[in-house]
Amino acid sequence: NRQIHLVSRPQGEPSAANFKLVEAAVPALTEGQVLVRNHYLSLDPYMRGRMNEGKSYAAPQPLDAVMIGGTVGEVVDSKNDHFKVGDKVVGMGGWQEYQLVDANQRGVLQKVDTTHIPLSAYLGAVGMPGVTGWYGLVKIIDPKPGETVVVSAASGAVGGAVGQLAKARGARAVGLAGGPDKCRQVVEELGFDACIDYKQHPDVKSLSTALKEACPKGIDGYFENVGGIILDAVMLRANAFSRIAMCGMISGYNGEPIPMQYPQLILSNRMKIEGFIVSEHMEVWPEALKELGTLVATGKFKYRETVADGIASAPEAFLGLLKGKNFGKQLVKLI
Ligand code: NDP
Repeated sequence: NRQIHLVSRPQGEPSAANFKLVEAAVPALTEGQVLVRNHYLSLDPYMRGRMNEGKSYAAPQPLDAVMIGGTVGEVVDSKNDHFKVGDKVVGMGGWQEYQLVDANQRGVLQKVDTTHIPLSAYLGAVGMPGVTGWYGLVKIIDPKPGETVVVSAASGAVGGAVGQLAKARGARAVGLAGGPDKCRQVVEELGFDACIDYKQHPDVKSLSTALKEACPKGIDGYFENVGGIILDAVMLRANAFSRIAMCGMISGYNGEPIPMQYPQLILSNRMKIEGFIVSEHMEVWPEALKELGTLVATGKFKYRETVADGIASAPEAFLGLLKGKNFGKQLVKLI
């Protein structure tokens, strides 16, 4: 059972040296337990925060232990009445090939149906990132038909969901993404109305001019994944009573301060800005997963995956995710 452990905490930017590949024995089962062979590991930006020691909304990842992470896989041995060999499951198996679960803990391991939905989608569109997009869009931005919703990191797992769900509600969806390939995909595959390559607009003035063109009626909702000058530029184009869902600020995950240049606009535009952590809103998951699952199963929802090969490739793939090297949901194919 090959595993990746966190062996040191990064100062600023993380590196491959913070991780170590460890060979461990495949554990033996005791009564009530389930052994899962993990097929895919999900790599997510939140993992950067867990590498730090400091206080956050979640406890830090312990050193010299398997990195935390969402996984999908297959039950290969079971001493638990609720799971049988061959069941497909989603859980928090961590960066490792096999996972032993005390499945009596409710919610730790969920069976999933792969008849119409591919297993890997349960880590993306029909999983935590999809629900994240759904929550911020539906519960915070709550777009009305004809309103304009902007989302940063639009080609990503969360951002792609936000735009498609906004379109399904009759809103105009405008994305921001890094590079022409991602922008093309956001418009042509995901069906956004427009996408701005923020790398072509290195200052607030240029970015807000591009936003003005893409959002002729101003911005009513902004789904924030990034932080920095993108937020400033959006605020300059925000309409009265606009809403911002504060989902992520990836540009500051290595500890850089993220100044906000125009906080006075929150007041003059009577804006609502609300942060959220999706795992604290389990009550919406069934409703969100039902909508997302139906859209994926009927082919109406599009998504892309970047799949790294093998557990040993997980650290580099994770470092790449933090730099935008992923295109869509970043996964690692295990075994
Ligand atoms: P993505 O698939 O969107 O991947 C991250 C993307 O962020 C990269 O592809 C890159 O896109 C962009 N990015 C990276 N660094 C920067 C930077 N310095 N400036 C601007 N953009 C950057 O990841 P997810 O969809 O999984 O997550 C999106 C956001 O949602 C993250 O901020 C994450 O932390 C947050 N999140 C929050 C949750 C919550 O409960 N609040 C739950 C899940 C996710 P590009 O090439 O376009 O720049």
